[in-house]
Amino acid sequence: MTTWVTPSIERIRPYQPGTPIEEVARRLGVRAPPEIIKLASNENPLGPSPLAIAAAQAELARVHRYPESESPLLRSALAEHLGVGAEEIVVGNGSNELLELLIRTFCSGDQRVVFAEPSFVVYRLACLAHGVPFTEVALDGYTHDLPAMARAVSPGTRLVFIANPNNPTGTHVGRKALNAFLDAIPPDVMVVLDEAYAEYAEAPDYPDGLEFRQQRPNTIVVRTFSKIYGLAGLRLGYAVMPRELAGYVNRVRAPFNVSSIAQAAGVAALRDREHVERSRSLNSTEKAFMQQRLAEMGLSVVPSQANFMLVNVARPAAGVYEALLSHGVIVRALPPLPSMLRISLGTRAENERCLAALQAVLG
Ligand SMILES: *Cc1c(COP(=O)(O)O)cnc(C)c1O
Repeated sequence: MTTWVTPSIERIRPYQPGTPIEEVARRLGVRAPPEIIKLASNENPLGPSPLAIAAAQAELARVHRYPESESPLLRSALAEHLGVGAEEIVVGNGSNELLELLIRTFCSGDQRVVFAEPSFVVYRLACLAHGVPFTEVALDGYTHDLPAMARAVSPGTRLVFIANPNNPTGTHVGRKALNAFLDAIPPDVMVVLDEAYAEYAEAPDYPDGLEFRQQRPNTIVVRTFSKIYGLAGLRLGYAVMPRELAGYVNRVRAPFNVSSIAQAAGVAALRDREHVERSRSLNSTEKAFMQQRLAEMGLSVVPSQANFMLVNVARPAAGVYEALLSHGVIVRALPPLPSMLRISLGTRAENERCLAALQAVLG
C-alpha cells in the first residue's frame, strides 16, 4: 500500500471544534439564536467592539488590494499598548498560526516539545503535523505540574508550551511557581506562555508573561483577539519575543498571513478599552453567579481564571452534552475528562438558560 503521509500525521485525530450554532439549528429544525445558545468555544458573549466592526466594514471596500504583509499599524498599536518594541511582535492568523509557526521555525531534527495534558490540543496537533516529537506531562489535579514539566525537559527539548490560564481547566500558574520553573530549566529552552485568557485572570499572583522577558529573554508570550476582544471569526493573534527570534519567525511566516480586515479591526479593538472593561466585568460577575448556582445544584466546579469553567457532572459527560444539545444549549465535553463539561460564560440570560437545561437534564 502507498504510504501517503508520515506516521505522525497518520496519528492525528482532527481538531473537534465547538459545535456550530447553525449545525445544531439544522439538527433540531429550529431557528438559530435565540433558540440556540453556544457556550462551547469561549467566545465573547458581548460580540465584537462596535469600533472594530466599523473599521472592518471600512476596510471591505479595499479588499482588491493585498494587505500590508508586516501588519505595521497593528504592530505599532500593540507595541504601544504592551510597552514593547514593534520589531518584537509577530501577528498571526489566530494565535493558532503562531503556535504552529514557533514549532516550524524552531524545532528541527528530533528536538522535542513539552506541554501538559490536558491542555490546549493545538500543541499536540501541530507537533504531529510537523513530525516533531513531544512529551506530555499530566496535570497535578487540574493545574500545570511545573516541577514535573521541568523534570521532563531534557537536552533535546527546544520548546515548552504553558497555557496560562490553562484550557480546558481554567486554572493558572502563579508568579512564584513560574519563576521557579524558569530558573530550573536551561536558558536555551524557549518557554511559550500561551495567554489567550490573560485579560480575564483575576488572581493576585497571576503573572503577566511579559514581566519574565528581562530575566529570561527566551520567554515568548502568545495572545489572541479571539477571546476578550471578540474577534474569533476574523482570526487574529500575536506573539511577543526577542527581535532576533521574531526575525526567524518572519522568514517562515507566509506573506499576507493576516487579512487587511483583521488588521484594521485589531487596531480598533485595542483602542476600545471600554468594551474590554465591560467584557471583563461581565465575565467576573457571571463567573461568581454560575459558581454559586452550580454549587446549589450540588455540582463541583474547578476554580477558573478564564471565561469558562469546568463542571463535574458526576456521570458520563458525553451523554449530558448530547441532552443539553436537544435543549438548544451547546457546551463542550472533553474526552480526557469524561465526567466534566467545559461551559463558557455567557450573558446572564444565556447562563440562566444553561442552568435551567442542566437542571432538566440532571434531574
Ligand atoms: C482559544 C485559545 C487560543 C486562541 O486561538 P486563536 O487561534 O487565536 O483563535 C489559543 N490558546 C488557547 C489556550 C486557547 O484556549
